[in-house]
Amino acid sequence: MLNIAIIGAGPGGLALALRLHQKGFKPTIYEGVRELKPLGVGVDIKVYGVKEITEIGLLEEFQAISVEAIDSLFFTRYGQMIYGEKCGKHMGYPHEQRFVHRGTLQMMFYDAVIKRLGPEAVVHGARCTGFEQDETGVTVHFEEAEGVPKSARHDLLIGADGIKSVVRNQLIPSSEGSHYSGVAMWRGVTVMPPFRNGGTILHLGDPIAQGSMIVYPIRNNVDGKGNQLVNWVVEQNGKPKSIEDWNQRVSPDEIAHKFDETKLDFVDVGEMIRNAREVYLYPLIDRDPLPQWSFGRVTLIGDAAHAMYPRGGNGLCQALVDCRVLAEKLAEVDDPIEALEQYEGARREFVNRIVIANRGEGPEVVRRIVEERSGGKPFEDIETIFPLKECEAIFLEYHRMAGMQRPDDAGPVGFRETFFSEDQARKTIVR
Ligand SMILES: Cc1cc2nc3c(=O)[nH]c(=O)nc-3n(C[C@H](O)[C@H](O)[C@H](O)COP(=O)(O)OP(=O)(O)OC[C@H]3O[C@@H](n4cnc5c(N)ncnc54)[C@H](O)[C@@H]3O)c2cc1C
Repeated sequence: MLNIAIIGAGPGGLALALRLHQKGFKPTIYEGVRELKPLGVGVDIKVYGVKEITEIGLLEEFQAISVEAIDSLFFTRYGQMIYGEKCGKHMGYPHEQRFVHRGTLQMMFYDAVIKRLGPEAVVHGARCTGFEQDETGVTVHFEEAEGVPKSARHDLLIGADGIKSVVRNQLIPSSEGSHYSGVAMWRGVTVMPPFRNGGTILHLGDPIAQGSMIVYPIRNNVDGKGNQLVNWVVEQNGKPKSIEDWNQRVSPDEIAHKFDETKLDFVDVGEMIRNAREVYLYPLIDRDPLPQWSFGRVTLIGDAAHAMYPRGGNGLCQALVDCRVLAEKLAEVDDPIEALEQYEGARREFVNRIVIANRGEGPEVVRRIVEERSGGKPFEDIETIFPLKECEAIFLEYHRMAGMQRPDDAGPVGFRETFFSEDQARKTIVR
């Protein structure tokens, strides 16, 4: 049986260990930190990500720690609705779409690894510094630390060590280079009563002057009093570069005032930001798509292979797909080096297209279109400046590109409701 080393116990490395275990392997994960903590804020697990979690056999556990996405609504800075669509099973997909805290999801995978593979499957405090490979295997080196070997010998090495991957940087030294996009992200969580149906993702604001905001709940009844933990992210252009660190804490006051005039019937956005439990600043950093992932006995998965802007939930979900494909290839193909090549062949070009597409606005472009066509003012009738059919075409293309083609029998999907004023209230459904 192949003796496989995985570097990194993030969601990618842990899910890979579970997928490999399903195929009869018993890999070892080397994680740089001594103790895993549930770090991060929210992630959006698309229907194809929920499919992967289901196949790993953790759907029930996942449902218990996450919130089902019911609908997705787009608003201007004045709280006027641009577009809405249903999510997951409500749209006719075979799986749910769900929102979860990144750290809670990581701990769910970690608990499953310990249960299924045993505690010895994860070596904590083992920070990989590099490796060399020869015809018979790979020797992996670690920083000196108590209880951690200086080096270990394995048949294969999988780099699942995230955006600053040591494994990737050794394979492709030029990949260390990165470029600040000029966009800063404030990522926060607030404990608050559920809004609307308790499963709505909101896309708010104007991306030009105010900043673009996304809001969604990630945990039900987080305090035993029925409140939800709600995740929100604000992107703003033209900010000086900050460090690329997921744990950079800042004050909500830096951003809250920008949303004082954005009032929805069901959420006071400025207040939600001011009441945040924690807020982090994170810069959007460009990393070019990689020209190669597999080099002999070494390959990459997750953010190490395809670091992308943390928009739209594709980073984590694509990592889960990597895990399935890699485990399948290792189980099916006799020559492990050939298996790593086939894994790359099945994945790299497809994911690189998402990396590039994620640099653009994706479906958030609809808010910029409305802002430009309305001159930044409240509109009288959205249909005259941005017909629903035109808007719908943008969403159809986005879902197709991300590998989530809408089901043929989805029925009416795009809709508009005017929350702006009673007089304007109307509802249109197409398709
Ligand atoms: C602390 C943290 C918080 C995050 N928060 C969010 C968030 O709020 N929202 C979001 O969308 N995405 C977040 N991400 C990124 C998100 O987890 C990834 O985009 C996605 O889950 C893919 O995960 P991954 O396992 O490939 O990488 P990661 O989640 O980055 O995991 C990489 C793992 O490798 C370990 N590691 C790194 N270098 C070494 C080394 N040299 N030797 C051994 N181990 C090493 C790290 O400690 C980490 O556990 C966060 C990542 C981190 C590390």
